[in-house]
Amino acid sequence: MYQDERLHTLGFLEWAGEVAGRAAFGPNNAAGRPPTPPNTPEPIQVTRLTDRLHLLTGAGGNIAVFAADGGTLMVDSGLAPRAADVAKAVAGVRSQRVVTLINTHWHGDHTGGNERFGNAGARIVAHENTRRRLSREQFQEAFNRRVPPAPRAALPTVTFPSARTLRYGGEELRLFHVAPAHTDTDVAIFFPRANVLHTGDLFFNGFYPFIDYSTGGWLGGMVAAADRLLATAGANTKIIPGHGPLATRADLRVYRSMLATVLGRLEPMARANKTVDEVVAVRPTADLDARWGKGFMQPEQFVRIAYTGIVRHRAAARKSGA
Ligand SMILES: [Zn+2]
Repeated sequence: MYQDERLHTLGFLEWAGEVAGRAAFGPNNAAGRPPTPPNTPEPIQVTRLTDRLHLLTGAGGNIAVFAADGGTLMVDSGLAPRAADVAKAVAGVRSQRVVTLINTHWHGDHTGGNERFGNAGARIVAHENTRRRLSREQFQEAFNRRVPPAPRAALPTVTFPSARTLRYGGEELRLFHVAPAHTDTDVAIFFPRANVLHTGDLFFNGFYPFIDYSTGGWLGGMVAAADRLLATAGANTKIIPGHGPLATRADLRVYRSMLATVLGRLEPMARANKTVDEVVAVRPTADLDARWGKGFMQPEQFVRIAYTGIVRHRAAARKSGA
């Protein structure tokens, strides 16, 4: 089961590991076996969710493909090196032009194909912070990694500050931004008729999430975002997480509960001004690690990132309140 989940996370590893070194993030790190990347790229799998909506996995973050009369709409575009494979898989769903590409957030395992689809004429829709982040070099402290600005053709062409409805192929897609959570660029997309919700990286199904505190993310925001997603999804909604297998509302609820538990343990330590090493030393997630710590985020690394994010968030809140 976890092996399968790991397969879905390799796309993130490929992006996050480019500079930072893969072994530090690998699921087998504790066993001393670096998770060597496959020499041949992971095949892209296409899963039919409805007649017109398909899920593409294996090219980075999970991609939704909505094929309507007049053109195809996509949510996220995968890793840059997989753009040609993604384009082929999308054309395999329905051979027509991609007219709209929505980005759930700025990370390269979700926006790497933007340049290709942008050059082919797709409009790229995203939160305004996604365009801002992609336009300039970003630094991710957790991986000590600089991300160069995206090429011009990869930048979103239609941006919005909070929410937007897109009428498309008989659907009224609801795009909504949440307060900083995984990043400060996050958008979820709900297809009411298809009853499908794409959460981007607000939801890592089955394992500890990465929280990009260098671009605004923090664990409290992840809990609040999960509540927004739970309020949007119904019992039968098919939920596409940013990484991991297709999910149900029940899966999302369990994930939200894990996040809230960790937040409840780390926040008092932040209030007590514990250092991150002191926090790691008490293994605050020890009872959760067997269930959640076997994805790409090792338990210790998750705690470090989650805790640092809380500390930074508190410091920023104090500053803005002063
Ligand atoms: Zn991400």
